[in-house]
Amino acid sequence: MYRVIDEFDLKDKRVFIRTDYNIPVKGGVIQDDTRIRASLSTLEYAINQGAKIIIGSHLGRPKGGREEKFSLFPIAAHLTGLLNKEVVFPENCVGDSVRKLASELRPGDVLLLENLRFCPEEESNNEIFSKQLAQLADIYIDDSFGTVHRAHASTNGMVKFFKEKGIGFLVQKELKFLQILLQNPQKPFLAVLGGAKVTDKIGVVENLMNHVDAFIIGGAMAYTFLKAKGVKVGRSLVDESKIHQAGRLLERASVKGVDILLPVDSLLAPRIEEGVEIRIARNEEDWDNWMGCDIGPESIKIFKEEIASAHTIFWNGPMGAFETAGFEKGTEAMALAITQNKGMTVVGGGDSISAVKQAGYADRVTHLCTGGGAALEFLEGKKLPGLKVLEI
Ligand code: AMP
Repeated sequence: MYRVIDEFDLKDKRVFIRTDYNIPVKGGVIQDDTRIRASLSTLEYAINQGAKIIIGSHLGRPKGGREEKFSLFPIAAHLTGLLNKEVVFPENCVGDSVRKLASELRPGDVLLLENLRFCPEEESNNEIFSKQLAQLADIYIDDSFGTVHRAHASTNGMVKFFKEKGIGFLVQKELKFLQILLQNPQKPFLAVLGGAKVTDKIGVVENLMNHVDAFIIGGAMAYTFLKAKGVKVGRSLVDESKIHQAGRLLERASVKGVDILLPVDSLLAPRIEEGVEIRIARNEEDWDNWMGCDIGPESIKIFKEEIASAHTIFWNGPMGAFETAGFEKGTEAMALAITQNKGMTVVGGGDSISAVKQAGYADRVTHLCTGGGAALEFLEGKKLPGLKVLEI
């Protein structure tokens, strides 16, 4: 259980709000402001309540010091326009000048700290840095779902210094949908998983096995599962260290009566490159030195039928190496099928989200997760360090 921002008396209080402004910025120009807009309901609520707001966020992966391309300056400017009020923007995230600015805030004022990761102490969850951040405010609110799985100073370390702490409306919304998936999904519940990193997702298969009726597993991760079944997958990407666990999961699923649908055919190529020779092969055929780069047409047909009959769907990960022209059809077909489903659909992960956006029907998805990694760890059943410290 977590306290939500509307359960606090915010008037005249300095409120630290951790937001997720880790967005694409090129040459000082914001490429996609979805995450900034997603923070507005919490910020506007706090402003209307007369809070003095201090926002903290990171952007990109600076290497332990200031790097102009990762400055939050363009975000401060954009936020000024969206909120229609001046956003105070200091040159740092801690220090005397920041402390002074925070103490001078009036009700409804907004201060955006410079990129927290310009201080390496943010990621090392340093105690002194955590305390310095905490001293800026009276109340702590986490509204950055994309970082709740990180034990950093602004998501974890600083929280222990607050008596008053809780979540913002965005984190509340994310948790609402993920909790429905784990607690009371409408059946049949289908999880569609893809992508390349088996390590990131095999724990999700393990835990979701207790909740779903069926899995669709595509993308490169499917080849680890196919190899566990004895299929000769040529030179397809396989995580050798996970074959055993994949085999165990396939056995467990058959005992539990959970379907794990794997591709029955694949689009093969000698390598992932636009314009190379391709062929379609079923699992039983000889793949020789070829690698599976996308699911094949028969698999697309079977997966679409499964998607059409589900009432709840969670999707994370592409069905093939979709960034390369020629290997995008499987992912596109899944995006279209999922957006046509009338049940509850939750899509997480940058690749899957851009696929549904490209399909042109992102508004038909019930919920687009703002934190793919955090959502996976939540569904894996892990206690997330950013949430654990906020539990009441
Ligand atoms: P992940 O970060 O685990 O979600 O993996 C996403 C990446 O998996 C994307 O960059 C895809 O290009 C890649 N991917 C998906 N399917 C395949 C495949 N069959 N072979 C190689 N890479 C793939």
